[in-house]
Amino acid sequence: MNRYILKNVVGLLLLFVAFTACKNKKTEASAMNSSPVDSMVLRDVHTLSNAAYIEMRHLDLDIAVDMAKKQIAGTALWQINNKTKAGELVLDTYDLSIDTVTVDGKAVVFRLDPRIQFLGSALHIPIQPASRLVKVTYKTGTEARALQWLSPDQTHDKAQPFLYTQSESIYARSWIPCADGPGIRFTYNARVTVPTGLMALMSAENHSEKNDSGIYHFRMNTPIPAYLMALAVGDVTFKSIDERTGVYAEPGMIERARWEFENVGKMVNNAEQLYGAYRWGRYDVIVLPAGFPIGGMENPRLTFCTPTIIAGDRSLVSLIAHELAHSWSGNLVTNATWDDFWLNEGFTDYFERRIMEQMMGSSYSDMLWELGYQDLVENVKSLGEKSKDTWLKLDLKGRDPDDGLTDIPYEKGSHFLKLIEVQAGRDRFDKFLKRYFFDHAFKTITTEAFLTYLDTGLIKDDTTLRRKLNINEWVYGPGIPSNCPRAGQERFAKVDNARDLFLNDVPPAQLVTTEWTTHEWLHFLRKMPPALSPNQMKTLDMAYKFTKSGNSEIADLWFIMAVRANYTFAYPEMEPFLASIGRRKFLEPLYGEMMKTPKGAEMARMLYERYRKNYHPLAQESLDKLIYAKQ
Ligand SMILES: [Zn+2]
Repeated sequence: MNRYILKNVVGLLLLFVAFTACKNKKTEASAMNSSPVDSMVLRDVHTLSNAAYIEMRHLDLDIAVDMAKKQIAGTALWQINNKTKAGELVLDTYDLSIDTVTVDGKAVVFRLDPRIQFLGSALHIPIQPASRLVKVTYKTGTEARALQWLSPDQTHDKAQPFLYTQSESIYARSWIPCADGPGIRFTYNARVTVPTGLMALMSAENHSEKNDSGIYHFRMNTPIPAYLMALAVGDVTFKSIDERTGVYAEPGMIERARWEFENVGKMVNNAEQLYGAYRWGRYDVIVLPAGFPIGGMENPRLTFCTPTIIAGDRSLVSLIAHELAHSWSGNLVTNATWDDFWLNEGFTDYFERRIMEQMMGSSYSDMLWELGYQDLVENVKSLGEKSKDTWLKLDLKGRDPDDGLTDIPYEKGSHFLKLIEVQAGRDRFDKFLKRYFFDHAFKTITTEAFLTYLDTGLIKDDTTLRRKLNINEWVYGPGIPSNCPRAGQERFAKVDNARDLFLNDVPPAQLVTTEWTTHEWLHFLRKMPPALSPNQMKTLDMAYKFTKSGNSEIADLWFIMAVRANYTFAYPEMEPFLASIGRRKFLEPLYGEMMKTPKGAEMARMLYERYRKNYHPLAQESLDKLIYAKQ
């Protein structure tokens, strides 16, 4: 037994006697008869905190990052407003060791509950009605779900270790004791100490150069929820794009990254033209090592992104448009609970495609819409056409909010908004959206509140529009409604034609593919018959070098086809791909395809055991289920 556990047991007993009996009554009483209780936060079933009763005003974080020990240790000092005179403050934690807690400078006896699956351990701190400052001294554990610690050989330059966080959806609590719900906003300052030679960056005002002390100070004056708390530590350098945008990456990656993101400044301008001012000051991007488990994360002021979008031809920068769009939908106007996730992601996919349309033209954004539609169809098929998980409004009670991380909030959500645009007219819908972002800036919104706002702000007396939208079927119904809009097929029709020719044995040399972007290639391959013959695979490979593709989107799809067709020639390249890429979007379908046959499953297990250590804890969790469930 370690001393933290001992202390907690003592704390538990004392608290039980001294505080617990009265505090529940107090809290409940104030909940009943007063308005200071935040009803949005009360709905959130994924926070154990009692922030509905206590305002979490500001966080002062002072932490040291030990790259060798793989541990963050320090203090979180919370400024609170005990608006309901609650008898205790309850914070979310996950695998944190709590050393001490003080309230207004005085040590108090705290209690740390046993861990609840997904949610972690509630930290109970006794407070007084006038309490202002709660300071928690803590250390992270080995099971911190937000943190990925990379050894030098897992980075691009292979010279220094790297750390990054991924706090969405409920992982901030595994590195900061906090009230961890999307509806709970606070400002923060941070002091982060890292080994010299490394730079620390956060979702805050950042610096562009390393310093010799290894101590970095951050300030975020705009209130954000805990899922947007972010930290990256590594050997990174900065290059400016224009006066308010720039890119951070490892030195060996910085030039390529800077080139790829040439148009990011213009993207911000385009986004502003659509839906109003960018409210966060600077917009920078950091390119992380390949183990990053997702495409991008919209951490305010500093988007975290995977290096797999550095394709060398700027063809995958729509991902940046997506993360940038979150500066409005998500970061500015935030889903109240994870059940309302489509309000973050559906709006952002819609906004992303509008930005790309402004920049590249409608025939280009039509391709993004169509690929998204294809994903939606596939996802509904795999979840089940009647599944409640295909509703826009999710029901994640008792479940890990990551269960809601499917294509539904993104693609069904964005297609619903596209439908409103088509039916109401673009001008009318754009004015409505601009007002929506303005009216709800730095606020939280539920699905129900959005639907009311839509009704009063756009539909009004237009009964024809209301009928045409059939909102209930979209929000509280399964599958893809019959009025789902489809994008124009101008460029993909040519791709379909080329694919038909190929399948009718026309040699690739005769197909016109010179102007194709990644999107055309994806459509070309996606719509091939379920399994091509080894000979057809070989013909394609000889002509287009798919096995050697440096484009991760294309490579991943090609490897899946190779497994399906037993095209073993591609396998030697598949292994380094799986060794280096940590993005779940690529890993899950590829391992999943292998798992479909006994021989493939054997290969999947062999490769997974070899490279599991390279994947983020969240990727490991979902892949463990996939690889070991069938054993
Ligand atoms: Zn997103």
